[in-house]
Amino acid sequence: MSTAAAPTPAGDEARALCERQLQARGVHLEEIAAIVVRLQRPYIPNLGPEEALESVEAVLSKREVCNALLTGIALDTLAEQGALPEPLQSTLLHDDPLYGIDEILALSVVNIYGSIGFTNFGYLDKVKPGVVGRVDRRGHASGRCNTFLDDLIAAVAAAAAARIAHAHRDTR
Ligand code: MG
Repeated sequence: MSTAAAPTPAGDEARALCERQLQARGVHLEEIAAIVVRLQRPYIPNLGPEEALESVEAVLSKREVCNALLTGIALDTLAEQGALPEPLQSTLLHDDPLYGIDEILALSVVNIYGSIGFTNFGYLDKVKPGVVGRVDRRGHASGRCNTFLDDLIAAVAAAAAARIAHAHRDTR
């Protein structure tokens, strides 16, 4: 008899799990929220850090976002442990720009709030502000790997900003 696999949680449990996983990799939700403020301030001048943080938490409470985060962080961690088969091991550890699956996984997060999320993500991927740049640089240190993580946090920020853009449009 096969037993059903326990699904990844959704809602508050998913958010808490994502938060713990991110913290273990040195990323705090407030840092992601700071990028959301930076993205949306030109359009919503009175946007504060609390509303941005609330939006980040809402994005992280979605099961598909949680799944993407767990997958990417697991692969980064396995690469640091030298536990992946080649050529994946070297590709991830050296953050090969032609790999591209890190961005594809991130786009599954961005997708949730439509095309505003896409353009936000493209901007963050290029400019790498704040915690995105820090995580990217830290991932290039010897034995460290943040190949998936930098794209995933940029995607969470992009999605949270798009979510705010939609919410403000609806209430205007
Ligand atoms: Mg990457």
